[in-house]
Amino acid sequence: MKYYIKTFGCQMNVHESEKLAGMLESLNYTKTDKINDASIIVFNTCCIRDGVEQKILGNIGQIKKIKKANKDLIVAICGCMAQADGRSELIYKKFPFVDIIFGTHNIHLFKEFIINFKRNHKKISDIWKEANGIYENIEISRDNLYSNAWVNINFGCNNFCSYCIVPYVRGRERSRNYQEIVNEVEALVKQGYKYITLLGQNVNSYGNDFEDKSINFSFLLKKICEIKGDFKIKFMTSHPKDLSEDVIKTIASNDKICKVIHLPIQSGSNKILRLMNRKYTKEHYLTLIDLIRKYIPDAYISTDIIVGFPGETEEDFMETYNLVNQVKYDGVFAFMFSKRSGTVAEKMENQIDEETKKTRIHKLLELTKSITKQKNENSIGKTFNVIAIEKSEKGFLTMSDSGKTIIVNDELEINKFYNVEITKFAYNKLFGKLVN
Ligand code: SF4
Repeated sequence: MKYYIKTFGCQMNVHESEKLAGMLESLNYTKTDKINDASIIVFNTCCIRDGVEQKILGNIGQIKKIKKANKDLIVAICGCMAQADGRSELIYKKFPFVDIIFGTHNIHLFKEFIINFKRNHKKISDIWKEANGIYENIEISRDNLYSNAWVNINFGCNNFCSYCIVPYVRGRERSRNYQEIVNEVEALVKQGYKYITLLGQNVNSYGNDFEDKSINFSFLLKKICEIKGDFKIKFMTSHPKDLSEDVIKTIASNDKICKVIHLPIQSGSNKILRLMNRKYTKEHYLTLIDLIRKYIPDAYISTDIIVGFPGETEEDFMETYNLVNQVKYDGVFAFMFSKRSGTVAEKMENQIDEETKKTRIHKLLELTKSITKQKNENSIGKTFNVIAIEKSEKGFLTMSDSGKTIIVNDELEINKFYNVEITKFAYNKLFGKLVN
């Protein structure tokens, strides 16, 4: 009995696929990377953009011939797209060979769905309207890529950014009990994981739903730092409206926390931020950047930007461009706005034409490229703490806390942390040598 899982979308989905894999393995299925060899195929879907949905529908269609050749094959579709309004009905109608459909709120029942389907051979479609809790003790089969383990700290989102579907498919914010999180991290560190990445749509609002207001993200970080062992903590994603000075100070004062902060600005224009319903201003955002640089001068700061949001004028775009130039980010993930049905932004007036979006994103990417090049050149002589990940022909590949690859020619042990000084930047690659 073999399983094949295809995951679309973000880290949240990647981790949920690890849970799906864990449940399948507890039923004695083993993993295969060949879809044709599978006795169960699972598509864990995403619906962040309409284009992604079309791609997924195309991929589901391709399973038809595999099912035709193997009548016992079980086909399961889950995740955000399955959860979105009307999509489960659409999938069943378009693809009658699908056996099981479930959403984001009841993934913990996956094992039951398989057992019941095998017993009754009756199609299952179970989409819960509301998320009604947090389910612990789900089996997890982790990918262990670069010794990283994902750990959920909160689920759902209350923010309703006008372009985003997440609050509609993942429900309202729910925070996990901090002791459960600490216990999970402790077990992972004992198993040898070197990076623990805390996951939430908005990690900074961890604990907002608790009565005890002293249990917040800063408290959680400090508790995890008390765990003994050779490991580091990362987290994603932060929201500028909720990131506090207290959290920044906690990051600054604990060696176990990576000095890497992904802080999505989305736009440098207050008018566009209002239309996006982001609930902060450019000025507030820049105050946060100043605080980060004050307490953590060597912080790696990255961001997300949406170019061509409805109503974005050339002046609005230039405000974003100038802000990027001012902050000098270490990493920028820029996207062209694309409509997502079911969101407020879908129906907004003044949609921007594709050509204008392309011109703007190109201009922004040129700027970020030159900043990155400059930053890489400036890093010569600086020391980074890295983990050795692989031996290659060129030397050992190591990875910094921010995910930068640095090639080192000294003898290293895989999965161990080292301090490395950058000696050269050539052909878009960083080279370094071991330091004490
Ligand atoms: S904070 Fe905004 S962009 Fe992020 S998941 Fe919530 S609604 Fe979506």
